[in-house]
Amino acid sequence: MNGHIANEPVRTTCPYCGVGCGVLAEQNVAGQWSVRGDPDHPANFGRLCSKGAALAETIDLPQRLTVPMQRMADGGFSAFPGITHWIGSPKVFAQPSMNSARIRSGFTSPDKS
Ligand code: SF4
Repeated sequence: MNGHIANEPVRTTCPYCGVGCGVLAEQNVAGQWSVRGDPDHPANFGRLCSKGAALAETIDLPQRLTVPMQRMADGGFSAFPGITHWIGSPKVFAQPSMNSARIRSGFTSPDKS
């Protein structure tokens, strides 16, 4: 929600589980965000569980992932080469899983994956 100058709430959804509750996010004049349940959303009719109600606490965390990252051997994190946003990243993540599935199914060997 970077760059949003609020007066009007932003209509969005909670990302924490498959229910996908509707959320109204608002930014006050000091730039602080708050959230509340969207009373018009058919999944939650204005209600949020404790995770959804705490969404605003995570918006400006400096550790928040804004692009896909990979864990390195030394325990640190690094950006994926060529991936600068979430769109397009599923192909990168799916390939190791497909290779692993092929190996487990016997369609290929680990050294040919
Ligand atoms: S508010 Fe709670 S129930 Fe609704 S989507 Fe978020 S985590 Fe799931």
